[in-house]
Amino acid sequence: MRKRKILVIMLCLALVGWNYPITASTNEVVINEDNLNLRSGPGTNYENLGQVHKGDIYTKVGEQSGWVEIQLEGFTAWVSSEFVSKQEDFSDTTVPTNNKDSTDTDTVTDSTNTEESTVQKTIKIPYNKTQIRNGPSTEHDIINLVKEGEELQVIGETDKWFKVKLDDSEGYVFKELVDESNEELTDGVKGKTIVIDPGHGGDDSGALGNNGIYEKDLTYKTADILAQELILLGAEVIMTRDQETFVTLESRATLSNVENADAFISLHYNSVPDLPNVTGIGTYYHQEQYEPLANYIQEEIIKESGDRDRGVDFGDFQVIRQNLMPSVLIELGFISNPEIEQLLLTNVYQEKLVSGIVNGLQRYFSIQ
Ligand SMILES: [Zn+2]
Repeated sequence: MRKRKILVIMLCLALVGWNYPITASTNEVVINEDNLNLRSGPGTNYENLGQVHKGDIYTKVGEQSGWVEIQLEGFTAWVSSEFVSKQEDFSDTTVPTNNKDSTDTDTVTDSTNTEESTVQKTIKIPYNKTQIRNGPSTEHDIINLVKEGEELQVIGETDKWFKVKLDDSEGYVFKELVDESNEELTDGVKGKTIVIDPGHGGDDSGALGNNGIYEKDLTYKTADILAQELILLGAEVIMTRDQETFVTLESRATLSNVENADAFISLHYNSVPDLPNVTGIGTYYHQEQYEPLANYIQEEIIKESGDRDRGVDFGDFQVIRQNLMPSVLIELGFISNPEIEQLLLTNVYQEKLVSGIVNGLQRYFSIQ
């Protein structure tokens, strides 16, 4: 099997070499904006298909009046060219095109390598899951994903790529992703005061699940796991209530204000008993300046849980309306949906939701 795969790759290289100069096969864009909207066509009036993030690299498949069409997994979408840098002038590894039939793949590989200059330094990876490829272009396979903060030894470089040493191999990282002028890394949630608000409590049971579970019990379960996780990461955590007590909405918001919280997270579950198939997670903000916090958390929860994305929206809820601090309210799923209710009772799924919230907070604090 492996032999056949190598043969196919060599055949592809030979074909590319035969028909085009190498530069023509490298056509990529780097996203320069976080949470950049993906559209189904070249304009803001087209459907929003999701978002891409700063530092992501995609192959460009089209371009039209200020919009770039990019290849995603299994589909293509459009982004405003204002927020991407184009890599079509990527020419540092180009083989001079002197019209010779370059069907010899060895020639291509060799000339790529000789273009590298040798350097001795280390770089610090500023983003989590930074892609390391086995060659200096996005056409090459991803061979590793590196964690934020990791330091790698640079053993060579081309115009746009660093060649770096990994534990037992070598790879390439796109220079713009590790730009040394990047601002200092922050510690994320470490040292931050986070108020967690498990919705409802005491006599107020909240919504009722398909199988009889109370919203108040689930929100407390999630809050408890979230608190443990954040404490482990060095945050100071304050809960608005304990397991049994009822606390007014007003005093929940006041607590956040008095404690001068860096973030206030209100946890809730939804229910529409008449429509047991309804599913999804949504996050709400009240003050517009906290919309990014809602966006980060929502995106990360969807990524972790795989539940339907109901998006981020303005929400007129008292706990966030009376809150002066960065605050959001999350509806973490429909307990009226029997499948979701069963999932929510498992620690595995609860931990996915919590990871999403934590990752969203980490992203939020890393830009503050
Ligand atoms: Zn609720």
